[in-house]
Amino acid sequence: MAQIDTILPLALLRDRATTDLILSGLDASGVAFALFSPEDELTYGSSAFRLLFDVQPGALTFTDIMHNCHDKCVGPKIGTPVEAFIDMACRKRRSSPQRTFEIDISDGRWFLANETLLPGGWLWHVFTDITMLKSNERVLQLARDAAQRAADMDPLTGLFNRRASTERLEAAMQAAQSDGIPLALVLIDLDNFKSINDRFGHANGDRVLKHFAAAGRQELRGVDIFARIGGEEFLVLMPATDMRQATDAIERLRGHMARAENCADICCAYTMSAGIAEFRGTAAEDLFERADRALYRAKHLGRDRIVCAE
Ligand code: GH3
Ligand code: MG
Ligand code: MG
Repeated sequence: MAQIDTILPLALLRDRATTDLILSGLDASGVAFALFSPEDELTYGSSAFRLLFDVQPGALTFTDIMHNCHDKCVGPKIGTPVEAFIDMACRKRRSSPQRTFEIDISDGRWFLANETLLPGGWLWHVFTDITMLKSNERVLQLARDAAQRAADMDPLTGLFNRRASTERLEAAMQAAQSDGIPLALVLIDLDNFKSINDRFGHANGDRVLKHFAAAGRQELRGVDIFARIGGEEFLVLMPATDMRQATDAIERLRGHMARAENCADICCAYTMSAGIAEFRGTAAEDLFERADRALYRAKHLGRDRIVCAE
């Protein structure tokens, strides 16, 4: 085994007491430090390091330590088979003069590992507990996700809002174009909604809007983007769906509303008109315009129907 003395500065070696003091100071600091020889044998490990990696008296090498961690489910979480994990770690060890990476510990803590390559292939590790930082990061991430969901959502129905659906339309058009798969856009407008409000009041009108959102959630697929884009106007974006399949799906939704038992909890029965257009590789405005013209035609033909764009 190579000697630790070969890498320590000469000045320290002249004063063994100082060297010992430094080592005992490092140990007492409670920080996890470790020094591995070029052969990957553990030459020095502070008490905190030994505790963190459950270093056993007989453990000589990095591989021994990792095997023990894996067997006892302590130290770093090792998701893959242990041999694959060790191969991967050994390929990365000594791959650059300095590496920093996060370690997910089995007991829920997180450590930041700093690995420094010393002359001759020695490796110096310092492990810093970043559990608090990670949990703050997680809280921030959750808050950011919640804010993003709120920004994307229509508060009355819980559906996507216009902005969120427009963003998704661009992405869906790109995917359809590159994968050569169909994409259908459906614009839906509830019929005579003003008269529902006038007859039953705005609050009951709101209930009808929520009812329609629930019907769509029930009848449409999880991959479909269902959004409220205006007062009583909705959009459905249907990936990998051609005109015929889209028409069948929207007919199902229309049929759902027509069944009296589905409307028992709201003030009145209601109907919808829809225009459907299939993506043809043109801009979003063109797709929208064709669906909108089809919807206009559905209204013009007497409402409560679906019209496909030419
Ligand atoms: P058409 O069949 O031609 O679509 O007739 P319509 O009455 O549905 O259309 P119009 O555009 O004349 O009226 C839409 C109504 O939707 C008017 C507006 O007060 C109502 N509305 C818009 N947003 C909301 C909402 O959030 N809640 C309620 N209750 N009503 C809303
Ligand atoms: Mg309208
Ligand atoms: Mg309407």
